[in-house]
Amino acid sequence: MPAWKWFFEVGRGAPRFVRIRMEADRGPRAREWILRISALRLLAALAAVALVGLAVLFVFSGSLVVERHRRHLLERRIDVLTTRVARVHSLETQLEETTLVLLKVQEMLGVREGMPDSVLADLVVRETRAGDPRALLEGRLALASQQMLHATPNAWPVRGWVTREFQGKRGPGYHPGIDIAADAGTPVRAAGDGTVLVAGWNEEYGNFVLIDHGFGLTSLYAHNSSLSVVKEDRVRAGDPIAFVGSTGHSTGPHLHFEVRRNGIPMDPKNYLLE
Ligand SMILES: [Zn+2]
Repeated sequence: MPAWKWFFEVGRGAPRFVRIRMEADRGPRAREWILRISALRLLAALAAVALVGLAVLFVFSGSLVVERHRRHLLERRIDVLTTRVARVHSLETQLEETTLVLLKVQEMLGVREGMPDSVLADLVVRETRAGDPRALLEGRLALASQQMLHATPNAWPVRGWVTREFQGKRGPGYHPGIDIAADAGTPVRAAGDGTVLVAGWNEEYGNFVLIDHGFGLTSLYAHNSSLSVVKEDRVRAGDPIAFVGSTGHSTGPHLHFEVRRNGIPMDPKNYLLE
């Protein structure tokens, strides 16, 4: 191996330069580089620029890492929120469906009559989105149950003694209602909200009223002296519909009162509230 000797020489005059020489101790081999000072300056300037660039890049990549972490957190948050939004949507759909059912119940009860489905759907969306859905639902349920309660024939049509009880079995003693004693001319009142199906006369019942309450429930009021409603009248619980009498198959003034569910006689006392 030859040993190398290094020589440095800074040239004088213009152009200024630096000579770097490398000589081996054996053989003719030698290497030499000549660098201009101006070129060196340029090189130094370029190195400075590169250094600043590197520093900027370092800071920038650091902020990129922070940014990436933040983005990851945001993406996870978006996932959570997306799940929540989906849940809210499904709850909203359920609420809309429930509201629709309740509105249909109201329609059945005659509160909302003949409302086109499109109008109903609009109403459902509007009512669902307005205000607190839970409060709305509770309100609707309370209203619906109140309406069902009102439609049930549970109000005494006249006040008086029950002189003959209900006997639902066919055969001797069959009595599909109760007889309530009352003075002739006493107003007979509807036992629940409903629509008058029949306001007429027959041999057995005399002057009688048949009211449809919905939910398969009807009530009948017989032996009246006269009637104060006509077919298709809408009545509310407590409205006067007739006057106590003794028409038809009757031995004295009283009200014969029936409640039927799907046409089958029920004991009215199971419906009447004290
Ligand atoms: Zn009777």
